[in-house]
Amino acid sequence: MSETVAQPPVSTGKEPIKASELDPKFKYELQKIHGSEKILKCFQCGTCTSDCPVARFSDNYRPRTLIHMAQLGLKDRVLKSDTLWLCASCFTCTDRCPQDVEVANVIRVFRNLAAENGCFPQIFREQAQILLESGYAYKIPELRIKKRETQGLPPLPKGNAKKVQKILKGVKFMERIQKPQGETASEQ
Ligand code: SF4
Ligand code: SF4
Repeated sequence: MSETVAQPPVSTGKEPIKASELDPKFKYELQKIHGSEKILKCFQCGTCTSDCPVARFSDNYRPRTLIHMAQLGLKDRVLKSDTLWLCASCFTCTDRCPQDVEVANVIRVFRNLAAENGCFPQIFREQAQILLESGYAYKIPELRIKKRETQGLPPLPKGNAKKVQKILKGVKFMERIQKPQGETASEQ
């Protein structure tokens, strides 16, 4: 009989906030990073969320909430949030924010910090691996390659994986994608 392994409880991101979670320095760190300098100007009007095309179709993605959480110092919750990766970088929020917070850039900063700490979805980890191995951002299906042949189309250019690896080495890309998932800044 196989042994049942106890799984850690899945975080919904809506659990009550504990004082120990708060990192009061987080907002000041963000103020020093290019793109999130104006995060403290947000007065929570909600325009970014109400105009966000992704929020319209998602029950969970709320740029305003992410910004509020960061202002409160909920660093781990922001960086571990799956919804962070739903942003389509359309910049509607940036155009509409009355406080010029540059919301889309703030989300980019959150993502960069999350990625630096190994917090990003498995699908991106896999995509990164494909990029390193093939030089392409996604694996081209054999079927498509064969279909090109049957239709008399020339073969696709070969991806230059070595060149890609050289560039990505410079930004410590490999270390980042190999970092265990969920390790966060506050645990460093
Ligand atoms: S639109 Fe600007 S000020 Fe309003 S909640 Fe969003 S970030 Fe804050
Ligand atoms: S940039 Fe992201 S957060 Fe802003 S409106 Fe577009 S999808 Fe929403």
